Amino acid sequence: MQHLIDTNDFSDKQITQLLNDAKTFKYQRPPQILKDRLLITLFFEDSTRTRSSFEVACKRLGADVVHLDIAKSSANKGESLEDTFANLCAMEPDGVIIRHKENNAPQQLANMQLTQVINAGAGNYAHPTQALLDLFTMMEYFDGDIKDKKVAIVGDIISSRVASSAIRLFQRVGISVVLVAPKSFMPQNSLPQYENIEDIIDEVDVIMSLRAQLERHNTSHYEDYEDYAKHYCIDSNRIGDRDILILHPGPVMRNIDISDEILQDKRCKVLEQVKNGVYMRMAILKLLLLDS
Ligand code: ASP
Repeated sequence: MQHLIDTNDFSDKQITQLLNDAKTFKYQRPPQILKDRLLITLFFEDSTRTRSSFEVACKRLGADVVHLDIAKSSANKGESLEDTFANLCAMEPDGVIIRHKENNAPQQLANMQLTQVINAGAGNYAHPTQALLDLFTMMEYFDGDIKDKKVAIVGDIISSRVASSAIRLFQRVGISVVLVAPKSFMPQNSLPQYENIEDIIDEVDVIMSLRAQLERHNTSHYEDYEDYAKHYCIDSNRIGDRDILILHPGPVMRNIDISDEILQDKRCKVLEQVKNGVYMRMAILKLLLLDS
């Protein structure tokens, strides 16, 4: 039974297959290959894009989806994560798509071997489907030529599961990664680190901007977000006419992460990432439910 906890659960061959399948799904009417399959979405944290994207992907492939509304579930009566999961699995779904604030929650449920588990975001550790859709978006933008491209991840890197999964996946496929953040947002690792975007902007092909993960901060990491924006907001003064692809996993804090103007710019592919997310998640469902 193959699960998706992080992108390293996939072989290089599987990653290539995912990129190819996502492209096919994008340009051809998707076949109903998951007819009679049932997926359950189990989100213990808020979500706009990832949950709807998974549910749309399931439906486009003909699968049924049931969503458990955690806010109105027996989790409020003290039922444990494992018991909630085991009870859902007793209804014999073909997979459970889970988001949780604990880094190891998806792995813990996968270890129970009751159904296939797909990680839709866990703590600050992993968001594998986001990393894969971002890779797909870069592949499209650079016509498949991503080797030796340089990505600057900008913002609250230390709290971001998007950054964690991206760093692992991008380096694996030959993309170099540099980190740009104020000290309180910077993790400890061996990647090149910069406090100012200006010090690296002429060398990068992609900027991945990240939101400050306020819901994950126990104490205030940054005092003044207007001041943060002055240094880190991706705006036209900062990027000028450079050919840089701008990405963001959403939700974008307008004029703090990225300016209104740049959100309209053709170099900014934030909504294309959302569109690609559906195709990539279709490819992931196909791989996990049919091909492995
Ligand atoms: N949507 C992404 C996540 O779930 C990024 C964010 O929330 O800032 O991690």
